Amino acid sequence: MTTKHQEKQVITMPRNSIRVAIVGGGIGGLAAANALLHRGVDVQVYEQAPALGEVGAGVLITPNSLRLMHRIGIGDAVAAVGAGVGDGSRYYREDGSLVAPILTTDSSGWNGMFGVHRADLVDVLAEALPSESVHTGYRAVGFSQDADEAVVRFDNGAEVRADAVIAADGIHSVLRSCVAEPSAPIDSGSVAYRGLVPAERVPWWPTGISQLWMGEQRHFLVYPVRGGTLINYVGFVPSHEKAAESWTALGDIDALRKEFATWDPVIPRLLAEVETTNWWGLYDRDPLANWTQGRLTLLGDAAHPMLPHLGQGANQSIEDAVALAVFVGPATRESLPEALRCYENLRRQRTQQVQLGARANGRRYDSHFEDLSERDAEIAGSVRFRSWLYDYDAEAAALEALAAS
Ligand code: FAD
Repeated sequence: MTTKHQEKQVITMPRNSIRVAIVGGGIGGLAAANALLHRGVDVQVYEQAPALGEVGAGVLITPNSLRLMHRIGIGDAVAAVGAGVGDGSRYYREDGSLVAPILTTDSSGWNGMFGVHRADLVDVLAEALPSESVHTGYRAVGFSQDADEAVVRFDNGAEVRADAVIAADGIHSVLRSCVAEPSAPIDSGSVAYRGLVPAERVPWWPTGISQLWMGEQRHFLVYPVRGGTLINYVGFVPSHEKAAESWTALGDIDALRKEFATWDPVIPRLLAEVETTNWWGLYDRDPLANWTQGRLTLLGDAAHPMLPHLGQGANQSIEDAVALAVFVGPATRESLPEALRCYENLRRQRTQQVQLGARANGRRYDSHFEDLSERDAEIAGSVRFRSWLYDYDAEAAALEALAAS
């Protein structure tokens, strides 16, 4: 991994193949680098942070992205750092009465679900790359292109020239403004308190399952990560004040405990063991009409930031990554803009459905229903949507679209 803070450095990537620069070393950017390398594409990642660090808590890896990670050779490593989530996973009412099982596999039953600490997933993705292809301390501040080449400028004075640039720079993407009208993130009106409890402090907590409780304007989600040694909890509550759009802002544990004090007694019992909690304002954006401009395209949260209520932020970015690589792999320098357009054409509709589906699911989880039996029926029926989500094979869909184009 290289870190460079020099006055002015012009980096022209080697010319023996097409050159792809990825801006952003989060899950989407690193997954794209892995998928592109897997198809023999020369790729470099530029991340603003001084190191790919340990930030965030759990992400759920769902069957639709697990099968893709197996194809690019990192599925076993993800499973090894994660914690399997399977049979016995359930939705409950706030009093702990059962609503429905949670679907945790695809229809074949082969691909399951893992709770993974975000930092562990970032490590697995980064370790699978040649260390010299990840550059930290590079914050993109500008972009330009002509018919032949794209140029990204960084705050350390460096300029990178490439044949294609993938903006995987998250919900606050700087490069998005080069392809779409500026728009503000949309405040969902909810915040999430989230954190980790060592499993040894709560030996009575069931292992190997995900559980979600639903009540008025609130829901509470728990699943294991890191081989089951840590229990990841997230409490979603209405925002009484404007919350930081931050993954790392510290939250007030007593305020969190108060929000769920009268719920299923296992929740206050778990929260009694919490020592720190982070506070995360929930924002998304409306779906974009366009992701691509010439040699620049968007990926992951830069393209389709979504609420976490389907657990798909990371999974959709991994789908993007593998689909992108299918189109870019066989492209030439000349055909790259068309390859990026084909990638967008394939991905925009599905990710839009997931973005809007996440909003709708948040309304279910937060019980915005006059008659709660309607909520329960929708939750029980959501297994059809989940099957659609989990059975989708982004690589196969991209190969089919490529063959047809
Ligand atoms: P992100 O994960 O946001 O990654 C974007 C990357 O781009 C970041 O590494 C960022 O530093 C970098 N970047 C931003 N601007 C620039 C720039 N101008 N130049 C260069 N680099 C730039 N989701 C959960 O479900 N649970 C969590 O606990 C959770 N924690 C998170 C913690 C952090 C710190 C972040 C950034 C995201 C977190 N997410 C979490 C969101 C989840 O990871 C994303 O929804 C999903 O993985 C899609 O990832 P992405 O790569 O598109 O975007």
